[in-house]
Amino acid sequence: MTQGAALSPGARESALQAMEATELDVLVVGGGVVGTGTALDAVTRGLTVGLLEQRDFASGTSSRSSKLIHGGLRYLEMLDFALVREALQERGLLLTRLAPHLVRPVSFLYPLTRRGWERPYVGAGMALYDAMARAGKYDVGLPRHRHLFRRQVKRIAPDFKSDVLTGAIQFYDAQVDDARLVMTIARTAVSHGALCATRTKVTGFLREGERVTGVRALDLESGREFEVRARVVVNAAGVWTDEIQAMVGGRGALHVQASKGIHLVVPRDRIRSESGIVLRTETSVLFVIPWGRHWIIGTTDTAWNLDKAHPAASRADIEYLLNQVNKVLKEPLRLDDVEGVYAGLRPLLSGESEPTSRISREHTVVTPVPGLVIIAGGKLTTYRVMGKDAVDAAAHSLGGGALGGGVPRSITERVRLIGADGYETRSNQRAALSRSSGVHLARIDHLLHRYGGLVDELLALIAARPELGRPLDGAEDYLAVEVVYAVSHEGARHLDDVLARRTRISIETFDRGVSAARPAAELMAGELGWDEERLADEVDHYLRRVEAERQSQLALTDREADEARVKARDIV
Ligand SMILES: Cc1cc2nc3c(=O)[nH]c(=O)nc-3n(C[C@H](O)[C@H](O)[C@H](O)COP(=O)(O)OP(=O)(O)OC[C@H]3O[C@@H](n4cnc5c(N)ncnc54)[C@H](O)[C@@H]3O)c2cc1C
Repeated sequence: MTQGAALSPGARESALQAMEATELDVLVVGGGVVGTGTALDAVTRGLTVGLLEQRDFASGTSSRSSKLIHGGLRYLEMLDFALVREALQERGLLLTRLAPHLVRPVSFLYPLTRRGWERPYVGAGMALYDAMARAGKYDVGLPRHRHLFRRQVKRIAPDFKSDVLTGAIQFYDAQVDDARLVMTIARTAVSHGALCATRTKVTGFLREGERVTGVRALDLESGREFEVRARVVVNAAGVWTDEIQAMVGGRGALHVQASKGIHLVVPRDRIRSESGIVLRTETSVLFVIPWGRHWIIGTTDTAWNLDKAHPAASRADIEYLLNQVNKVLKEPLRLDDVEGVYAGLRPLLSGESEPTSRISREHTVVTPVPGLVIIAGGKLTTYRVMGKDAVDAAAHSLGGGALGGGVPRSITERVRLIGADGYETRSNQRAALSRSSGVHLARIDHLLHRYGGLVDELLALIAARPELGRPLDGAEDYLAVEVVYAVSHEGARHLDDVLARRTRISIETFDRGVSAARPAAELMAGELGWDEERLADEVDHYLRRVEAERQSQLALTDREADEARVKARDIV
């Protein structure tokens, strides 16, 4: 299926030119899940929209989450019912309507270790969780929880220590490749007419009196400075919110505190279990989440005041997670079982002096000066509601104006992300697709889960250039065509974009993508017209990044880890 515009290499230049040439209704700062969700909400209401992202889509927090689309059992225990209900509604909407190709069910075991009160207490919480999901206006798309005895747990999860268990409760949530979700939201927004440009940093605001009338920006690829005029600027800069507020001057209306959370990726065969697992720790919750041929284990929750673009996982963080998970594994995981490590920063609205894991994940929208809306907080799961709330706030400033008669209501609950259309049909046709393309059935499934109905576009590329149907050297879970498509349709401009976000090779291979770097760069070079020098530079930058991350993960403290990580500079 062809479903609208691509984020092609030329699309960025055209978007920048168009943004400069007109006054937009809305300009969004930040290409994470909140910024792209805001752009999609605004453009589908009939507004003219631009979005500027200083690095790559999802290069901030939105590619470094636990990748769960969930209500959050923890918030239920904190009695944050409104937050849980809203997130569960969004979960159902994403699973069954907006992005069924990207969002998938995932089951978890919640182990029970005490006799007596624990089973009824946790069971009541799970029943409430299921009931809240069913009370929403959208389909749930997931089975109800069920109670398990110890011997059932042993069968489902033979590698978890069962001697300390009295049983478990199995419940369902959903998961998504966060970076692909964000890029897909951006592509959907572009397909409806939004203008999006990455590697463009907002450096200041245009003002008329008190009012914000646009931004000054720097194209990091060319070094060119320019201005974009907009009737409203929406700031969706996550943990960078305070810096953006400082550009406006005055006292900030919101304070966003960064809390670091790290994850480990280990091979799936290191832990035999048909289900993920959720454990309580002294300070937080530990997730062991199935992720293709891997497990993702996370997370930590500690304040972070160092480099925001490259939060670093220290040895202490890694050892903490290994210690936690090893408490429940029959055969402990070792450091050399770890394939990948990633660290992200939660954008928490800072309360008084609460420790970071107690601060609510709910979001807030403020309008500190006319023409500027700031949105922050929240979570991946509720991005659509955040986008809607930001545009509702922007609509106040927009009034009747050019639209005459006010801004229409949000319609994103009915706007399917690209790739959703045709996904079911193509899934039913998977065997025929495999036969006609010569691509193995397992590979077709892999493509369907990442591209949905857009699988046709990748198969057309393979038909034209059969060599693209081969596995990518150094990262055989992916096909060469995915690298080419990342550049031609998904806005990837640098090797890092492809290895860290369009694919997840940088966290899914023991060598962190080192041996795939050159083959991937060669495929990109053909699309982007790189010469040998440029290609070598891209590979060199990527290898330096991997080495700096490895060094940071040997450091004991955050400060030492940060010093090691910042040695590798971004390519632009
Ligand atoms: C460890 C961890 C686990 C999590 N797990 C989950 C989970 O399982 N489920 C869930 O629902 N949520 C989860 N979250 C929360 C979720 O990931 C975040 O709330 C969400 O990704 C934040 O998105 P954002 O768009 O606000 O921020 P970001 O993704 O950081 O986006 C902000 C963007 O603004 C850009 N920017 C900043 N300044 C400028 C400028 N001057 N000019 C241009 N661009 C600029 C940045 O480059 C960045 O890309 C988790 C978070 C963490 C850290």
